[in-house]
Amino acid sequence: MQPRTFSIPMPTTFRGITRREGMLIEGPAGWAEFSPFLDYDARESAPWLAAAIESAEREWPAPLRDRVPVNCTVPAVGAEQAAAIVRRSGCGTAKVKVAEKGQTLADDIERVEAVRDAIGPRGRVRVDANGAWTVDQAVSAIAALNLAAHGLEYVEQPCASVEQLAAVRRRVGVPIAADESIRRAADPFRVVELEAADIAVLKVAPLGGVHACLRIAEQIGLPVVVSSAVDTSVGLAAGLALAAALPELPYACGLATTSLLDGDVVASPLVPVGGSLPVGRQALDLAAYDRVAADGETDARWQARLSAVRAVLS
Ligand SMILES: [Mg+2]
Repeated sequence: MQPRTFSIPMPTTFRGITRREGMLIEGPAGWAEFSPFLDYDARESAPWLAAAIESAEREWPAPLRDRVPVNCTVPAVGAEQAAAIVRRSGCGTAKVKVAEKGQTLADDIERVEAVRDAIGPRGRVRVDANGAWTVDQAVSAIAALNLAAHGLEYVEQPCASVEQLAAVRRRVGVPIAADESIRRAADPFRVVELEAADIAVLKVAPLGGVHACLRIAEQIGLPVVVSSAVDTSVGLAAGLALAAALPELPYACGLATTSLLDGDVVASPLVPVGGSLPVGRQALDLAAYDRVAADGETDARWQARLSAVRAVLS
């Protein structure tokens, strides 16, 4: 079947994106998602296609669990809205976006305080700076946010480079998680070499598929948090397959991201119940897809993109 292109509006800008676009591909094993971010070239999009082809054509590894605990994601919104997101989610772990362009540390502190209030003393609060801080900024921001949160679970990608992560990790007591340093790096294992992180964030699509991620998890020797790239429920199912196959899963995964999208492509979108999501294949639902189907121009752009990425892969 011809791949189907979607374009889904996002209720809140997340990392500068206001619409999530991508394609859905069907193969003998089921439906798969191909949705590299718009600024990725064909080379950087190649693992995303490899992951989609794998999901469409191969069975995923046998699951070791049938549900996966997940965190809710709080974008760079105001304190009140942040608290509402946490309460609505029912999740025991919240990931809070910090260091957003155009905002201050005071905004981050207020948001983190509101999230702690909403999630309660036993909940876990983690923050993600998406590499925006310098080393010195990170050290002081982490101290302030750790105080505001009454203890952070971890800080994700405080700075851009692996060297900076290593420097920050030596100066703070809060565990450091590496995300971009693994998925956009030429060598994901440099994080281990430089002892730059305590936790590895793995995303199925940018790392080339569920099986590839399992190999990385095995070799990297760090606890893994599986996260999404703001996928539809079809893409999230691949992340859940990875999380379900990991021998150990000490942290909640970042897969409860359908709340960042105003629409989905399946009949029952993956919304957490009791702080977890079910493991299993997700099939495209035509009625749901029709509501988010891309227009002709967007579809043509994606068909061209798919051909270009196919050329890189072959
Ligand atoms: Mg991240």
